[in-house]
Formats: sequence, structure tokens, C-alpha cells
Amino acid sequence: MNSVQSTSSITVAKFGGTSVADFQAMLRCANIIKNDTRNRLVVVSASAGVTNYLVRLSQKNVAVNEQKDIIASIGVIQVNITQHLAKEVEADLNQQISSLLDELTLHALTQSLQYTSKTTDAILAFGEQLSSRIFAQVLQSIGVSGEYFNVQQVMKTNSSHGKAVVDITQLSEQSAQLLAPKLHDKVIVTQGFIGQDSQGNTTTLGRGGSDYSAALLAEALNGDNLSIWTDVVGIFTTDPRITDQARAIKEISFGEAAEMATFGAKILHPATLIPAMRRNIPVFVGSSKEPEKGGTQIKQKVASNPTYRSIALRREQTLVTVKSPAMLHASGFLAKVFTVLAKHELSVDLITTSEISVALTFDNPSGSTQSLITNTVVAELEQLCEVSVEHGLSLVAVIGNGLTCAKGIGQSIFETINDINIRLICHGASANNICFLVAEADANSVVEKLHNNLFS
Ligand code: ADP
Ligand code: ASP
Ligand code: MG
Repeated sequence: MNSVQSTSSITVAKFGGTSVADFQAMLRCANIIKNDTRNRLVVVSASAGVTNYLVRLSQKNVAVNEQKDIIASIGVIQVNITQHLAKEVEADLNQQISSLLDELTLHALTQSLQYTSKTTDAILAFGEQLSSRIFAQVLQSIGVSGEYFNVQQVMKTNSSHGKAVVDITQLSEQSAQLLAPKLHDKVIVTQGFIGQDSQGNTTTLGRGGSDYSAALLAEALNGDNLSIWTDVVGIFTTDPRITDQARAIKEISFGEAAEMATFGAKILHPATLIPAMRRNIPVFVGSSKEPEKGGTQIKQKVASNPTYRSIALRREQTLVTVKSPAMLHASGFLAKVFTVLAKHELSVDLITTSEISVALTFDNPSGSTQSLITNTVVAELEQLCEVSVEHGLSLVAVIGNGLTCAKGIGQSIFETINDINIRLICHGASANNICFLVAEADANSVVEKLHNNLFS
């Protein structure tokens, strides 16, 4: 049983929102931990639905009645879990939940008066703070000595709220001092997604960021394995919600999986594999509901490197086309365009150029209500050139190996979807992907058709 560390091996196990959604789900996760003594650190997301509630709560002008309803709904999700625990544990946890929700109420009221990204992060962090406290007790209820740990002691970040950058040197030093010694005789339960800046303010790493937190902690602790437990039995050839033809992949290289995450496969936060690759830590992805079914192993070297590995889809893309006759045979034009973009901290994803125009794509972070390309950005670009902005696009990425030199690629990919209007194509920069933009309305059928052609 997982009470005392029997080996020096450390696995960091991360459980996503659906895995900690209710008591039964938490219990399944607790048993996964119990059954393998290598699991020493558990990183949890907020219970499913809670972060979405918090996002709503953090928006401008939410009426006080709605604030109350949201906070009450979060409370119900959590106490529905604690009611299954021993009476005194339930009472103690409910007390903690109630004081956290009181604190949340104050934050929500402040937010109505002075909305900032700092106060938004303070609100978003409550989900993980609640679920981690409860999960530690669920572990204890099945005889595992689980202990809650506040990740903000070690996860120090800059102050870029909503997309905070972690100080990995501090993380490694503080983890060695505050976290590693605890792992010998306890299973430590901590929060994904959240951090703290140098002024002590709460920060967050971006939606879906718990995967990344877990990978950073695995790196900091010199972990041997990272397990990402979620609601599907591994990484599939495409999102199984789009087509039931999608198949689980047994093993995949770091490079391929990182491309999938970057190009929108929600199964992993885009940055997750960076720390794992730095330390060559193998990553497992599996279903906490069906752990017996195994999952996907992500590692440096894999037995096969097929031309086509998977298809990823990223929605809510913005395409900006800048056009100027002055570009013809001129130098320095693009530098000026990029200076404007850099000033507004806009990161360009794809780029294609013609003689007098350049097309650039931008990823709108999921859940954001306003376009990244604000009127101010457009106005500043218009000082340099003509600007057009298009929304409602999706980026389809075909991921594989040797895609810059394999023959017949154009035919295999584009013949299948020759009835679709393709807005932009990027090929050549990476041997691991070919990507193109299509209208949002066509996206699912493009993925389905391509999948049928490339993987059946
Ligand atoms: P968690 O809450 O555990 O982090 P997510 O919802 O963030 O889970 O990620 C799991 C979901 O990712 C799956 O339910 C699936 O719909 C989606 N997904 C997208 N692309 C893929 C893929 N290639 N393979 C598996 N799942 C994928
Ligand atoms: N709870 C956060 C979210 O829903 C982080 C995560 O689940 O990874 O985005
Ligand atoms: Mg996720």
C-alpha cells in the first residue's frame, strides 16, 4: 500500500477536472495512487465545471445575485464530495470550504468595483485550492497518508496574470527544500494551474495549465515519470469527440506529442512537454476511469515514426492580412509590423507572405471574450499598411514525420478536402506538421474526412 515510499522512484500524477469531479471519480484516482507506491506527488485540477464558474464570476458587471448563485453552485459541487467522508472529516472540510467561499465572495465584490487581471487570477485560483484540500482527505479515507501542500510556496512566477511565467530556478530550489523531504513518507497533494508572484499575488498559468504545473514539478523534483490522468484512454489520432474512428496511440515521441499540444489537441496543455523533454521524463496519458486499459507513453525514442501520426484542431483563430505596395523590394517593413505586435505582446503563430502582403495568424485563448487584435492594434498597423482582420477560422494541423520531404503529401491531404475553401497553408518550416486554416463551420468535417483518408 502507498503509505511509505518503498523505492526512490518518483512519479508525479496529475488528475484533470473530470477525474476529480465527484466523490466516485476522486475515489478512483485515490486508488490509482494507492496501487502504485511510485506515485508521490499528486497535482489536481479544479473539479469539473468549477473553473468555468470562476471565469464567469470574474467577468465585469456580474450582478450580486448571480455572484451568490455561482458561489453556491461551487459549494454544492464540493460538499457533494465531502458528504461521503467520515463525519468529523466532512465537518472540518466543510468549514474550510465555507471560509474559502467567504473569501471568494469578497474577491467577487472587489472585482465588481475594480476589475483587473490580478483580481481575476485571485478568483480563478479557488477551484484548485478547494479540490486539493478535499482530495488529500479522500486519499486518507482509503488509508494513504495524503497531505495537502500549497503549491504557491514553490511555484513562483512573474506577474503576467493569466499567462504567468514560472521561475524554474526558484521552483527547483524551493521544491528541494520544502517538497522533496515530505515525499518520503507522505503522498503530497497540491494544486495545478496556480502560482504566486514576488509580491505575493496569486497568478495562473493559463487554462488547462495543470498539466504544465505537473510537468514543471516533475522536472523540479527530478521525477522519473509523469502520469496525466484524464477522461480518455490516451492520446488519440484525433480528438475522439470529433470522430469515433479516432484510435488511441500506444507510444508517441516527445516531438510529435508536443506538436499536437501546440496545435490544439486539448489533451495536453501546449507547454506540458517542455519540462519533460528538458529532463527526458517519460509521460504517460491514461483514463482515471479505466486505468486498466493502459494509455499512451510519450518518450524520446519510439519504435515507429509514421508519416501521419495525428490531426489536431485549434479553433478561434484570427487571421490578419497586412498589405502595402511599399513592401515591394523594400526592407524593414515586416520589422515595423512585428514591432507593433511585440509592443502589444501578440504572438504570431503562422505566417505566409506574397509580394506586397503578409498573412499572420493569432490564437485567441479559449474562453476569452474579446479579440486579441484590438482597435488600437489595428490603428497602429494602419499607420504602416492596409489591414484586414478575419475571425471564425480554425487551424487544422496534420502531424507526423518527414513531412517536408515525403512524396504525395499534397495529394493525400488536399485531394480529400478539395471541396473546402482553404484560407492559408503552412508547410516547410517543420518536418512534423502541415497546417492550414479553414472556416470554423467546415472544421469538424475536414478533420473527419482527413482522418478517414489518412488513418483508415
Ligand atoms: P482534463 O480535464 O483531464 O485536463 P481535458 O478536457 O483538458 O481533460 O483534455 C481531455 C480531452 O481532450 C478529451 O476528452 C478529448 O476530447 C480532448 N482531445 C483533443 N484532442 C485529443 C487527442 N488527440 N487525443 C485524446 N483526446 C483529445
Ligand atoms: N482548472 C483549470 C482549467 O480549467 C486548469 C486545468 O484544469 O488544467 O483551465
Ligand atoms: Mg486539460
